[in-house]
Amino acid sequence: MSLTKKILLGLGLGAVVGLILNVTSPAAFEFANTYIFVPLGQIFLNLIKMLVVPIVLVSITLGVTGLGDPKKLGRIGAKTITYFLATTTFAITIAIALASIFKPGVGGGFNTEGVTYDGATEAPPVMETLINIIPTNPFTSMNDGNMLQIIAFAIFIGFALTVLGEKTKGIVNLFEQANEILMYLVNLVMKTAPYGTFGLIATAIGGQGYAAIKAMLAYFLIVLAALLIHAVVTYGGTIALIAKRNPIEFFKGFAPAMTVAFSTSSSNATLPISMETAQKNLKVPESISSFVQPLGATINMDGTAIMQGVATIFIAQVYGVDLTFTQILVVILTAVLASVGTAGVPGVGLIMLAMVLTAVGLPAEGIGLIIGIDRLLDMTRTAVNITGDAACAVYVAESEKKHLDKTTA
Ligand code: ASP
Repeated sequence: MSLTKKILLGLGLGAVVGLILNVTSPAAFEFANTYIFVPLGQIFLNLIKMLVVPIVLVSITLGVTGLGDPKKLGRIGAKTITYFLATTTFAITIAIALASIFKPGVGGGFNTEGVTYDGATEAPPVMETLINIIPTNPFTSMNDGNMLQIIAFAIFIGFALTVLGEKTKGIVNLFEQANEILMYLVNLVMKTAPYGTFGLIATAIGGQGYAAIKAMLAYFLIVLAALLIHAVVTYGGTIALIAKRNPIEFFKGFAPAMTVAFSTSSSNATLPISMETAQKNLKVPESISSFVQPLGATINMDGTAIMQGVATIFIAQVYGVDLTFTQILVVILTAVLASVGTAGVPGVGLIMLAMVLTAVGLPAEGIGLIIGIDRLLDMTRTAVNITGDAACAVYVAESEKKHLDKTTA
């Protein structure tokens, strides 16, 4: 049996077992959860998380060195950021359109009294965030797992290695060998993925209160529909039309990473596996994958933007607020920023939603309405988040090929 099939089997079995225990015996679920599901899931999660920081450092450094030409880095960087911003804007537009047409927050008899949310409602100022991309201490960044700072540091080192060439060949060799070790370990960890996903899914599905989903069904389905439309139309479309590759093969090839993202709800944690899958199954060159995907896992969150778009319209409808056209534009802009600022770990998209809500004067307490069912949506949107990064990597890879053809022609 192929690894993808095994992971899917783990996923399916986990869902069924979790669901059965959830409805038949909460006590049995608690027991199995503590002694089987959580350990299986956490061991797997720790194993992949263990590799994230070293992989980002090593692979981006090598990626930048591998490009060999700072101009090329600039070109790839520009393409990547443009693709990320354009697709995220598209994603949120789909979300707002669907939520405005189907009105999930109207007539559901939602009770907003007593709904609370006491998380942060303010996002850090944009300028501060930008300045902080440059780490004052790269070791602290690695300690804290601050991805943007690690990426920035790695780009500097990669740039220096490119300029210094022969003089620093030894360090390049060292990084190349470290990369071999890390990729070998990713492969090894991947073998445990079927068991890990089983545990993670059983915990997630078994721990749900299904009554909450029923009340929120319209919202839930609209987020799912927007995610699906975005994946098929935007990613399928760019793969077919711009990258000129077969979209079905793209989705099939990338499926193992999507299932892992689905079970971990974390773009960051899935990163080693999404890079490996894109390089192996989608034939994205290492130098491009290792630049585009870590950056994407950190700043490109289309699935998150979709949830934030639907949630904002939903909360406005529940509170009976009519958003003006200008306010909708503000929602689009802030949701793009919020999704850029969302860290690739579980549940952060919901916290960043507070920033979108306050930007148009909606009560952040509204988050209390959707928090109960966010876990399941988080799983789905994370799978979409990393698929967007892979689609971008394929697009950049294909367009760079043409560039290569042109320059050699
Ligand atoms: N869990 C998401 C991710 O890691 C972020 C979020 O939307 O909460 O991609």
